Amino acid sequence: MTTLPDLKHLPEPPPPTLRLRVDTDALAGNWRVLDRMSGSASAGAAVKADCYGLGIDACVPALRDCGAPLFFVAHWSEVAALLPHVAPSRIAVLHGPMSRAEADYAAALGVVPVINSQHQARLWLEAGEGLPCHLMIDTGINRLGVSPAELSEDAIAALDIDILMSHLASADEDSFDNARQLDLFRHCAPAVAHRRRSLANSAGIALGEMFAFDVTRPGLALYGGVPRRELAREIRPVARIEAAILQAKTISPGEKVGYNGEFTAPGEMRVATVSIGYADGFLRARGPGTALMRDEARLPVIGKVSMDMVVVDLGEAPDCGPGDWLEVPFLLPDAARQSALSQYELLTTLGQRLKRAPR
Ligand SMILES: *Cc1c(COP(=O)(O)O)cnc(C)c1O
Repeated sequence: MTTLPDLKHLPEPPPPTLRLRVDTDALAGNWRVLDRMSGSASAGAAVKADCYGLGIDACVPALRDCGAPLFFVAHWSEVAALLPHVAPSRIAVLHGPMSRAEADYAAALGVVPVINSQHQARLWLEAGEGLPCHLMIDTGINRLGVSPAELSEDAIAALDIDILMSHLASADEDSFDNARQLDLFRHCAPAVAHRRRSLANSAGIALGEMFAFDVTRPGLALYGGVPRRELAREIRPVARIEAAILQAKTISPGEKVGYNGEFTAPGEMRVATVSIGYADGFLRARGPGTALMRDEARLPVIGKVSMDMVVVDLGEAPDCGPGDWLEVPFLLPDAARQSALSQYELLTTLGQRLKRAPR
């Protein structure tokens, strides 16, 4: 006989075998570092893509409480999750309104759109009637934004612009394009009325105070990413990932491990199967050359990463067994070098199982 469970009185779920801890002290500390490096400008916070994968509910209250004045998302679908934490007037939507429905949604809530084209400007003038917006100027990345030449167009001139912004294409490099974009931004800004200016992302902040203007927009470095070496000393890791051993065993010389048998045991060895896989964001590219850690012991990943598991060589910690927790290295600059993924991709590909785990 089967009876349906009473969904209101489910038993407590057992503890998970995978956990993500967001160090909110480090997150707040990183915001303070970036705010200080922004000089007289104040640092907002890019919280798009669920705070780069670390979770809005885990990150936004900490950023708000340490003083971040403004929160940037990309999609309209990202607004609702922010509303329990910050006032709508402090939320900016980078993609801007693509339709009257999106413009109406922004106007009804009091969320501030970033206008990226004359079409978006006209939508906002109709729906927002006098409500403030931000304006993105494209100074060379050729992604979103109006061209400097469009600033004198009627629809743009009619906007009530709070922040006039642009975005750097190569702030993480010592590229001449940075100075060129800075010059163009400075040069064209007076063509349209606005209250504040903003140019720098995380890497842009490290380029110096002349890039900071009134508001900066760090994302990556808040979450422990280091896009330029000037930030390396003060930015602290924010995310810590741990996975539990599911099974340990001894295998014989010549036995193979994992899909397609890519690893062959050179001798008798002790191995452990660990509860993290590519569905959790531990992508296949991160397997080769990575070791999970048990205190000081390095336990190299062997064989292919599976969807829900990896196997490690227990040589340096032969007594480890089921239930023991291993640390999954997540120092973003190191993990990026090792995997050839960007620090941004390492963060934003963290899987749902990690995010749902209790903290
Ligand atoms: C994502 C984004 C940022 C944040 O950039 P980071 O490199 O993560 O600091 C700032 N501004 C805009 C327009 C963005 O799209």
